Parts: sequence; structure tokens; C-alpha cells
Amino acid sequence: MKPCLADYNIEELKQILIEMGEKPFRAGQIFKSLHAGLSFDEMTDLSKPLRAQLKEKFIDIPARIIETIKSVDGTEKFLFAFSDGNVIEGVLMRYKYGNTLCVSSQIGCRMNCAFCASGLEGLIRNLSAGEILSEVICVNKYLQGGLGEKRKVTNIVMMGSGEPLDNYDNVTKFLRLVSAKEGLNISVRNISLSTSGLVNKMYDLANENLPVNLTVSLHSPFDDERALIMPVAKKWSIKEILPACDNFFKVTGRRYIFEYVLINGNNDTKRHADALINLLKGKPCHVNLIRLNEVKEKNLKTVTDKEAYRFLGILEKASLSATLRRRMGDDIDGACGQLRRRYLSEKDKQNSNEMPYDNAGVNNDGVN
Ligand code: SAH
Repeated sequence: MKPCLADYNIEELKQILIEMGEKPFRAGQIFKSLHAGLSFDEMTDLSKPLRAQLKEKFIDIPARIIETIKSVDGTEKFLFAFSDGNVIEGVLMRYKYGNTLCVSSQIGCRMNCAFCASGLEGLIRNLSAGEILSEVICVNKYLQGGLGEKRKVTNIVMMGSGEPLDNYDNVTKFLRLVSAKEGLNISVRNISLSTSGLVNKMYDLANENLPVNLTVSLHSPFDDERALIMPVAKKWSIKEILPACDNFFKVTGRRYIFEYVLINGNNDTKRHADALINLLKGKPCHVNLIRLNEVKEKNLKTVTDKEAYRFLGILEKASLSATLRRRMGDDIDGACGQLRRRYLSEKDKQNSNEMPYDNAGVNNDGVN
């Protein structure tokens, strides 16, 4: 497959142009055009021969939107296809302060969390920096946004399929590309990165000068119970996660967030709430409670609103900063990976060929 030009920063583009015998100043022009969502054919400020050369050697924007569904509440879901035929999904949530896009960092995921649809087939492959960026570029263009101040995607959450810190180099590069002042210029402060708690990478991230909103999926205050929901807990204990969060706060000055998916009869009891309070009291953190979005293939049940508010009430009473995430887009298959799975099973019914990827040799239990 051809390399994708959206993977490169301006310095790297300059190098590529010099090697092609072109003027390096064109790098800025090409960078801007790509980030605005223009194809090679639409880059009319470049000579025709240069456009033809680029087209021969590279892919411009490696993702395209192949399906959209809009919810009654304005939330919109996108299915993106990549050059190799793989598909992933993204969700756009509209708020008063702007539009937040939820992006995916991998096709599939090897964390294999008990409640999540993304890990059902394991990790298929990592997305490159330019592929993750293309999700943002496509939706920004779809919303008729431009670069910088004219962008229509204003916030990003890395909470789609994949474990961002399991694709570390591409994800950090993506964060630099999407926040570049010559491009969309989305401040990393407006970007949340959600991790299942890969402790060593959390320390690395603190030193990248990328002050994102660090979000950690906790889902239980007890290591043994957490390991039943998230196999990665066998590798990293809560005792190791908490200092990594505190270090992130120390280095970046940014408060961190814990996500806690409420699963009926599993992690939603008073015993869990009390232990959570013990664990987190006095820490510079916020707890985001999420009602489980039931996944057909999994046998876990969601909580009622009453149960969710009861759990929230216990945390609030202990003065823990906590909120219950608003339900959005329930009518359009809200949970991660569900639109993609429906698409794949429909495609499977149409042609019972093999899937266009090879899943062999990947360790899929989230424990290296
Ligand atoms: N791997 C990363 C990011 C992807 S999951 C992580 O684990 O944080 C992003 C968030 O979506 C996680 O907090 C996860 O718990 C939540 N999530 C995944 N599947 C869900 C479901 N079925 N219902 C509710 N939340 C879900």
C-alpha cells in the first residue's frame, strides 16, 4: 500500500519535497490543504505535474465517511472506511460550547474488556497518525469547517475503539498533527485521552509536553474484581495506576478523570462506592459514571437511572467530584463498536468470503 501523506508533519513533508526536486515551501501549502480535507485533485495551487507525482506515490486522506446516522438529540455517528477496506466508527456530540468528536485509535482492540464491543475480535491493526487525523479531517469537512478558528470540530475524545496508549507513537504524533497551528489547531487541552491504565505509557505521556485530559477507565476499586472486567488489570494494579495519575498531575498541572461504567449487580453496590471514596478522596480527580450500554454479544446488564443516581449520591455525599454521563445517541447504537459490527455482519451476509485481514499472532488478552 502507498504511504499516506497525512502521516507527515511539515518538516517531514519538506524532506519529501526536496527528495522529489521540489521547493520545500510547498510543504506548508500541502499540509494546510490536507488538513482542510482537500484531495490531490483539489490542490489547485500546485502544478499539475506535482499533483500527478504526489498521486502516484502517496495516498492523500486515507479515510472516507461511508455511512452516517443522526440521533434525535443531534448526536451523529460515522462509519469510516480506510484504504485497505477496514472500517471503524466515530461519534460527534454537539454541545453548547462546541462539537466533540470521539475518535478510534485502533481497528479492534486487544484489551478485551468484558463489556466492550471493540475487543470482540481482538486487535486487527493500529491506525497510523494520519489515519486517526483523517477521522477528524473528514468530519470537520462534513460540517463545512475550515482550519484554525474556522474548524467545526472543537474537541476530541480518544474513546472510540482501541487502546490509545497501546498505539503510543502514532497517537502522540496524531496529537501533534491535530494541534499544529498551521492545521486544525485543536489545542491538546481540548482533547481527552482515555486509557485502560497502561502505567508505563502513562509516565511516558506525562513527559511529552502534551497536556491532554488524561482519563483512566477504572470500573472497580478492587484489583481482583477489576481483572474480571478488564484483563489488563492483571498487569497493572490500582496501586500502580494512582501514582501514575498523580505524576501526570504533577508534571502537567492537569486534573485527571476516572471513568466508571456501572454494570448491574457487578460494580454498582454500596461496597464499591465506599471503596471508591476511600481510594480517591482528596485526589485531584473527577469521576465520570457511565451507564453500561448493553452489547448484544455480552451478558452484562445496565443499571436503572435510579441505581445510577444512588451510586452518584454516595460519591457526592463524600464530596468526591463526580458526574453521571448524560445519555446521548441511544437511538443510534451508542456504544463503541456496535455500528461497525452491524456493518460487518451485514457485509458478511452479502458475501460469505473471509474477512480482509489476518488476525494471527496477536496477543489479545491485553497482557503483554
Ligand atoms: N481503551 C480505552 C479507550 C476506549 S474505551 C479505555 O479503556 O479507556 C472508552 C470508554 O468507553 C471507556 O471508559 C469504556 O469503559 C467505555 N465503554 C466501552 N464500552 C462501553 C459500553 N458498552 N458501555 C458504556 N461504556 C463503554
